[in-house]
Order: sequence, then C-alpha cells, then structure tokens
Amino acid sequence: MSERFISTRYRTDCYHCGEDADQIIQAVSAQAQVVCSNCGATRVFIPRFETAGVIGTCTPIGRYDLWDIETEAWCKHCGVSGPHNLVVGSGHLTTRCGNCGYMHFYRFNLEYIDEQFADRGEVSAPPGSS
Ligand SMILES: [Zn+2]
Ligand SMILES: [Zn+2]
Repeated sequence: MSERFISTRYRTDCYHCGEDADQIIQAVSAQAQVVCSNCGATRVFIPRFETAGVIGTCTPIGRYDLWDIETEAWCKHCGVSGPHNLVVGSGHLTTRCGNCGYMHFYRFNLEYIDEQFADRGEVSAPPGSS
C-alpha cells in the first residue's frame, strides 16, 4: 500500500480470541482493515462512500462495542495533517477529518485469520493435554 492514510492501534478485548490485545487499524482510500496483534483475526472493510457533507449521527447496531479513536492522518480533501476521528463498529468503519469534516465511510466486507501475522507475535500454544 503506497498511500498512507490511517495507521493506528487500539487496545481492547479481541472479539475473536478474547485477549486484551492491540488491534491494528489501517485505512487507505481503497480499503480499511483491523487486525488483532494476538491471534491475527482480520476484518476487512471496503469503501462505501466519501463525503464532505454532513451526515447524521450513525446509530450502529452490532455485536461489538464501538471504538471511538482519535488519530493523526493526512486528509486528501483539505490537505491538512491533523486529528481524525476514527470509529470502528461491527459493520462499519468511518474516518472523519477534524479540520474539514471530510468522511470516509467503509462497510464490513469479510473476516479471516491471518496466521502468518499471528505467528509474528508470541503465540505459545499450550501443549496437548495428556
Ligand atoms: Zn485476537
Ligand atoms: Zn480535511
């Protein structure tokens, strides 16, 4: 990914492995993804729309808590690097420029387990029960 937009992490209980682990969040115009640093569970979000207008407050209904994160990013709309509001829910992910209000809206596409990613962490599989 050559374009660099949002790259941050958020520590919370993983919906998949249940561990308190960093969830690595990366977003570019074409895609956003959230990866658990412990188990490698990956959620992929694809863009739905981008808007400079105001949309009403989303009232998401989902299985997971909403993550409401503030992160630094470069806005392609106003060209300012600054704080962006990042919201991750079970079915969507949105980013909003703190300067001009430009929003990227992604919707959940698929999830999978990135075992290679998890292998880079310290995965100590318990020995088989005897
Ligand atoms: Zn996990
Ligand atoms: Zn902006």
